[in-house]
Amino acid sequence: MFDYIIVGSGLYGSVFAHEAKKAGKKVKVIEKRSHLGGNVYCDNIEGINVHKYGAHIFHTNDKEIWDYVNSFVEFNRYTNAPIALSKGKIYNLPFNMNTFNQLWGVITPQQARQIITEQSQEYSGNKPSNLEEQAISLVGRDIFETLIKEYTEKQWGRPCNKLPAFIIRRLPVRFSYDNNYFNDRYQGIPIGGYNKLIDSLLDGIDVETQVDYFDNKSHWDSLAQRVVYTGPIDRYYEYIYGPLDYRSLRFETETLDIDNFQGNAVVNYIDKEYDFTRIIEHKFFEFGDQPKTVITREYPKEFSEGDEYYYPVNDDKNMITYKKYQELSKTEQKVIFGGRLAEYKYYDMHQVIKSALHTFRKEVCSGE
Ligand code: FAD
Ligand code: UDP
Repeated sequence: MFDYIIVGSGLYGSVFAHEAKKAGKKVKVIEKRSHLGGNVYCDNIEGINVHKYGAHIFHTNDKEIWDYVNSFVEFNRYTNAPIALSKGKIYNLPFNMNTFNQLWGVITPQQARQIITEQSQEYSGNKPSNLEEQAISLVGRDIFETLIKEYTEKQWGRPCNKLPAFIIRRLPVRFSYDNNYFNDRYQGIPIGGYNKLIDSLLDGIDVETQVDYFDNKSHWDSLAQRVVYTGPIDRYYEYIYGPLDYRSLRFETETLDIDNFQGNAVVNYIDKEYDFTRIIEHKFFEFGDQPKTVITREYPKEFSEGDEYYYPVNDDKNMITYKKYQELSKTEQKVIFGGRLAEYKYYDMHQVIKSALHTFRKEVCSGE
């Protein structure tokens, strides 16, 4: 008998398992993929850690979370500063004085603010009700048309005025010449890759890969006092309220016989004439000086059977359905639902870790 069977070895499952073991609990992790780590897993190709499920840059404002991850692996000082290619021109991201200069030739924050204020008039005074309104009210129509609209519609497969406003608020807007993609105090990549973090979290824990919980759910349930489920919540309930929408991605990875393909880790391709949204050149995350390079193109797609689940689509329609699943999940005595798929939240890594730590602490308190 186990205290916890943990379904999924992503960050949520791995943090929960680590904390439970540390508290003296008997834990087992089952994972349907052939490797551990969920979406932070890296392949090693030509000595380069290749982020198999998309580029992962760790960032947080929370010192406790930063200290927590650094207690398992040292992080480097990588700072994400993507560039965007739009109609043949390169722009800096996130939206900052460099971007405004490249777009309008303005030099001072006052000049940039004036243009943005004029262009955001169309929605002034109203609370933005969708991504398009939010984008225009934050940065004006030029930036929306040049750097947001086509990228977003490729990424989400939906028009910008049908998407939730919060998605675009993930990106900082600043009136300084600062290309750091995140506002957070702490940022970096684990030295030696994310697998080190996962291996360290799961050290000494009973794990089994290539096991799908649903192939033998009653067996796993019978082995444990509690189940921690980190897969998609609609799948858990056999889609009784209908399937939730997810966006998936297809990754095309190539090894090139040159040392430098694009001069930056992340280049976004805004225009819809490109089917992909971005090209990742992995060596830049760890300042690699290998003679070869590995790049990955990301092609967004709507999730369909056989794809991996990547992004919850938190629009109104899906949130109504999710709330029904969430209500059902609250009635469960035995099962904890956690992580990006089970909570149906556009979580970043630090938020997943925080959620796992918080839930485990609540567990300990309620058990005492
Ligand atoms: P997952 O990593 O999805 O893990 C869930 C695990 O459960 C998977 O391994 C899955 O195989 C397993 N599983 C599911 N169902 C079953 C089952 N039935 N039986 C057994 N196992 C099962 N965050 C950042 O902070 N910075 C970034 O730069 C960043 N970039 C991202 C880029 C992309 C393309 C994506 C998709 C996400 C990105 N994220 C980023 C978010 C980050 O990946 C997540 O916040 C985090 O990894 C989610 O962890 P998780 O444990 O909730 O889920
Ligand atoms: N986005 C955009 N243009 C860009 C980069 C991002 O319009 O060049 C929008 C897009 O809608 C995207 C959202 O901002 O989904 C959030 O971007 P982020 O980089 O956080 O997305 P993720 O890394 O999670 O895919």
